[in-house]
Amino acid sequence: MHFLTGSDDDSPPARGRARLAPSPTGAQHVGNARTFLVAWLDARCSGSELLLRIEDLDTPRTKPWASDQILEDLAWLGLDWDRQVPHASQRADRYTEVLEILKQTNRVYPCTCTRSEIDQAASAPHEGTLDGAVYPGTCQTRRADDARQLDQQGVKYAWRFRMPPGVQSWRDGLHGVRSLEPSRDLGDFVVARNYGPAAYQLAVVVDDHDQGITRVVRGDDLIYSTFRQLALYAALEWMPPDYLHVPLVVGTDGKRLAKRHGDTRLSYLREQAIAPERLIGYLAWSLGWIERGRVITPRELVEFLAMRPGWRSELPREPWVFRMQDL
Ligand code: GLU
Ligand code: ZN
Repeated sequence: MHFLTGSDDDSPPARGRARLAPSPTGAQHVGNARTFLVAWLDARCSGSELLLRIEDLDTPRTKPWASDQILEDLAWLGLDWDRQVPHASQRADRYTEVLEILKQTNRVYPCTCTRSEIDQAASAPHEGTLDGAVYPGTCQTRRADDARQLDQQGVKYAWRFRMPPGVQSWRDGLHGVRSLEPSRDLGDFVVARNYGPAAYQLAVVVDDHDQGITRVVRGDDLIYSTFRQLALYAALEWMPPDYLHVPLVVGTDGKRLAKRHGDTRLSYLREQAIAPERLIGYLAWSLGWIERGRVITPRELVEFLAMRPGWRSELPREPWVFRMQDL
């Protein structure tokens, strides 16, 4: 398999449809705000329609209060959207329908391995792997039909997607061409469980496809997931969107922003009466656009970036180190 998606030059994306897809697993922090800002600017600068979709599949990590707080956070930041689409949790039947197609085409098989069995069988669990342990292929010889017997026995299993062999390439709007051999480097991955909801990888592809999304801007912790999602698009013979992955915000220890780096929750900054224009100014400075300490609104940034049409491919490619005192 070899396919390349994404435009082959640095021209700005055409008018299309984009989305913000936050997960209500907790409070949104400065790092989320930075990614939202870039996604919002990408859409607003190209005149695209922007949808808001709450990705609340990750139970039990999903928090009941977090969805409303996300809406407040975005409004406070000055980031609007054109239309809200149903939460992922409301679309379970549609995910089941698409899973059925994958079963019929033998793209998925029932996997009964436990997490610890996979870690033990993988040659070097979590070490030297790109994105978690590579599934060792234990259940690969099963066919979708074998699930019936497992159901009769009352066995729990996951539906795992068979990664096709070969090199896969695509072009990221910031990082350029990305290639690897997904069946070797990432392995087969879970798309659903026979108990519980569809997994993120399947849900996001079904939603982006059904909602006509042409452009995805999100954090680069998902850059390897893009290979998985593109494999699903190919299996379903659907047209994938273009992707741009924004580097994450990290603490001074180089680790992903977390509680130990201080309280960077947007709700907390709001309580501290920090002006949103100050935070937007800080983020714009972190993106290399304006000098430190300036206040600015997202709308003003749209005007500013209109004069820099190549801004997308000039975004910083390294993680941004957050220091509270810079804010
Ligand atoms: N819900 C994911 C997150 O909040 C984003 C998924 C996506 O943009 O595809 O990290
Ligand atoms: Zn297995």
